[in-house]
Amino acid sequence: MKLAGKIALVTGGSRGIGRATARAFAAEGADIAFCHLNDDVQAETVAAEIRAMGRKALHRPVDVSDIKAGKSFAELAAGVLGPIDILFNNAGMNIRKPFEAYTEDDFDRIVSVHLKGMFFMAQAVYPAMAARGAGCIINVASQRGLKGAPNSAIYSAAKAGIMGFTRALSWEAAPKGVRVNAIAPGPIVTDLTATMEEADRQAFIAALPVGRFGRPEEIAATALLLAGPDGGFYVGATLSPNGGDVMY
Ligand code: NAD
Repeated sequence: MKLAGKIALVTGGSRGIGRATARAFAAEGADIAFCHLNDDVQAETVAAEIRAMGRKALHRPVDVSDIKAGKSFAELAAGVLGPIDILFNNAGMNIRKPFEAYTEDDFDRIVSVHLKGMFFMAQAVYPAMAARGAGCIINVASQRGLKGAPNSAIYSAAKAGIMGFTRALSWEAAPKGVRVNAIAPGPIVTDLTATMEEADRQAFIAALPVGRFGRPEEIAATALLLAGPDGGFYVGATLSPNGGDVMY
């Protein structure tokens, strides 16, 4: 098993990409701590799935934009399960509006969850990883941070920032044995994309070379590559499984 004996902390693990990744990590032998936002029932389902694989699961409702709460959860996870080997920095949301309709509250919320939340969750686990000389941080960005999109100006800016943060931290972290990378998924079938207007979804699918949205498991497979023994030479990279939406 690729992650035998490892401890992974997944933010936003109750559904979608976080759930698929928590399950993929557990299937490869990792114990999982995950947080979510107001999603206790689905979180308990995911925890039961992980325990059915013979792994440990710990979950709490924690808003990652609350720096103290995120840090406390990382400390709890390390105390209960052991030192964190892998952070899958994934929790996210979006507010879709035309640029001119966005408010300061919209800006603060989206940037707080994505850029601030991921930055400080990384800071919560990084010192212990650096002290141990080993660790893996995977930040979930988006293809929207690469190419942009209408009605997602703040989200796209935050996701671009996450890729910049990934590269910047890598300069400090890699010499200490901590690999930091990003994943920029294309459109994936989750609750996040379920709220898209149907016409927008059909136009998006028509423009995609593969002609379909991706599955959360297709992102989890990339996370497993980065977290596992085959990912050792990825540093500061952004891998983008996106169905051909962005080719580079
Ligand atoms: P989802 O809505 O299915 O799941 C989001 C998860 O994050 C849930 O567990 C939710 O409880 C949690 N969450 C939301 N806000 C939180 C907060 N403030 N604090 C803690 N947990 C919070 O969404 P998803 O599609 O699985 O998205 C996961 C990540 O992937 C996000 O960062 C998203 O921006 C990114 N992403 C998604 C897509 C896509 O098409 N679905 C594409 C690119 C990037």
